[in-house]
Amino acid sequence: MLGEILSGVLTALRGFTLADFLDILLLSFILYSFFRLIKDTKAYQMAIGLGIIMILFLITQWGNLLVSNRLIKSFISYLIIAIIILFQGEIRRFLTSIGSRSIIKKENISTFEDLFQAVEYLSSKKIGAIIAIEKEISLESYSSRGVEINAQLSKDLLASIFFPHSPLHDGAVIIRENKILAAGCLLPLPATHTLGKQFKTRTRHLAALGLAQETDSVIVVVSEETGTISLATEGYLERGLDKAQLKERIKSQFI
Ligand code: ATP
Ligand code: MG
Repeated sequence: MLGEILSGVLTALRGFTLADFLDILLLSFILYSFFRLIKDTKAYQMAIGLGIIMILFLITQWGNLLVSNRLIKSFISYLIIAIIILFQGEIRRFLTSIGSRSIIKKENISTFEDLFQAVEYLSSKKIGAIIAIEKEISLESYSSRGVEINAQLSKDLLASIFFPHSPLHDGAVIIRENKILAAGCLLPLPATHTLGKQFKTRTRHLAALGLAQETDSVIVVVSEETGTISLATEGYLERGLDKAQLKERIKSQFI
């Protein structure tokens, strides 16, 4: 018995070519990127659900369970449409992430220094802020519903916008390249999240996560309650960053 299995494995290995190896490598990479992309988003739970349906389908196929098999089969065509609709945010992010990542021109990088300084100042004064930096997916639909600014990004302008009694301090600032495009923008809340119960009403942090699930943008949040700096990107929210970590994360996203 064992001998049979071993000889079976050996025969399979003998026919193993470089193409098979590359095939496995590529498949692992695709699956890994996919799960990394969707982890911590609503898509993660749905992917698990889909996996279970696929396993059920295979079981009914192997076991010749005709009625159940038919039922799942007829369900699958609707499922494909549902996947496209439900995963549209993830699909968009996945496709754009394949393209070029160095989208910020070298001469604009220095303006990030103003952003870092503003965030450090806001954090030290515990002034709440939410700043979304656009990458390849346009944030026009969010910026157009805010108040247009269209001015060179500067530390003082950013700090003034979020100053507690400023009329523009509510809502998010949107940055495109070296410009503040708009302020007072409403960002989307995530459909689901795994931040836990204590985040149920923390709308500023939720909005950052929501936009990071919908688009490829990078969102910085300064908490008014604690002064902590958080960064949302690729469907994740990373909390409690210091200035050096924030710099490193943002630079790795844009350079
Ligand atoms: P903080 O730690 O600063 O208190 P929080 O995550 O606990 O933040 P809230 O206390 O609910 O969140 O903060 C509310 C503020 O967050 C609002 O006044 C507004 O400026 C901003 N905000 C809330 N929802 C959104 C949204 N959908 N888009 C943009 N900004 C939002
Ligand atoms: Mg709060």
